[in-house]
Amino acid sequence: MVVIMKNRFTEQELHAVAAEMEAGGVNVMVSRGHETTILGAEGNPAGIDQEKIQAMPGVERVMTVTEPFKKANRKYHPDNTVIPIGNGAAGSGRPVVIAGPCSVESRDQILAVAKAVQASGACALRGGAYKPRTSPYSFQGLKQDGIRLLQEAKAVTGMPIVSEIMSTGAIDLFEEYVDVIQIGARNMQNFDLLKQVGRTSKPVLLKRGLSSTIEEWLMSAEYIMAEGNQQVILCERGIRTFEPFTRNTLDLSAVPAVKSMSHLPVLVDPSHACGKAWMVERMSMAALAAGADGLLIEVHNDPENALCDGPQSITPRQFASLMDKLRTLSACLGETI
Ligand code: PEP
Ligand code: MN
Repeated sequence: MVVIMKNRFTEQELHAVAAEMEAGGVNVMVSRGHETTILGAEGNPAGIDQEKIQAMPGVERVMTVTEPFKKANRKYHPDNTVIPIGNGAAGSGRPVVIAGPCSVESRDQILAVAKAVQASGACALRGGAYKPRTSPYSFQGLKQDGIRLLQEAKAVTGMPIVSEIMSTGAIDLFEEYVDVIQIGARNMQNFDLLKQVGRTSKPVLLKRGLSSTIEEWLMSAEYIMAEGNQQVILCERGIRTFEPFTRNTLDLSAVPAVKSMSHLPVLVDPSHACGKAWMVERMSMAALAAGADGLLIEVHNDPENALCDGPQSITPRQFASLMDKLRTLSACLGETI
């Protein structure tokens, strides 16, 4: 349930409404937006006398919210959430591009890619140090050494770093050294991990699960937000369908859908969605046209010899050309990049 206040209301009226709601057994979340101020009920609103609240001074309307996600819900928070990332901000109306290799492999590799993507206008460097591989015999990542190399790349370029956490045991390491903590598709419903990142002060990039519905995805965001961390960035990375041509099926319709349901920024990862480097450019442009707040793109200086996800990785040169096209497209869309 949410209470929408009138355009003009006094603080006294707001406090009276909040107190009445709390007396009904819920916590109250206040969202002061550009146009409206909203009081959202957290918990079961069954004990609240809605008619009484509707009649209180300063109240415009009482609305029942049927969706199970509350903090992530646009009805509770009508304005877009804006999350700064380096020299960009996800959700600001100006698309952000996060780029880098699937995995950190060596000092030379990560430094070369970091410098290249920065020169082309990426706002943050991605790089996996702990890799969730399908086979236990595949490269599992450099782990702590990978995080250390990302730190070096950050020191050289000044770009913030984005990396995936796989277990709760690594939380202190990530809280200290990683700027944006990524939750991978395979861990989207690892609820202990979600709760732990919800207690950190770092933005969380939450990928959509391999076969998750939009509502399940938003409920995972809710897990993080319920622990206190409101800085959640959603990332559509393709879902599993019957179609084997692409690695996954990029659900671009999820972008406007989620943006209508939630105030959180939504990025698109065309690399994992398609699994083919040659498709990344087109799907990146399609993602921005669909209203995405930015992109997460795999870039490797030697895709043929990459230890992970080479076939879907574009080269720094291709990335530079893509960024030029995205700037042109954004200008047409009335956004700047
Ligand atoms: C990744 O970003 O490298 C990754 C493993 O992505 P996903 O969790 O979307 O598969
Ligand atoms: Mn990858």
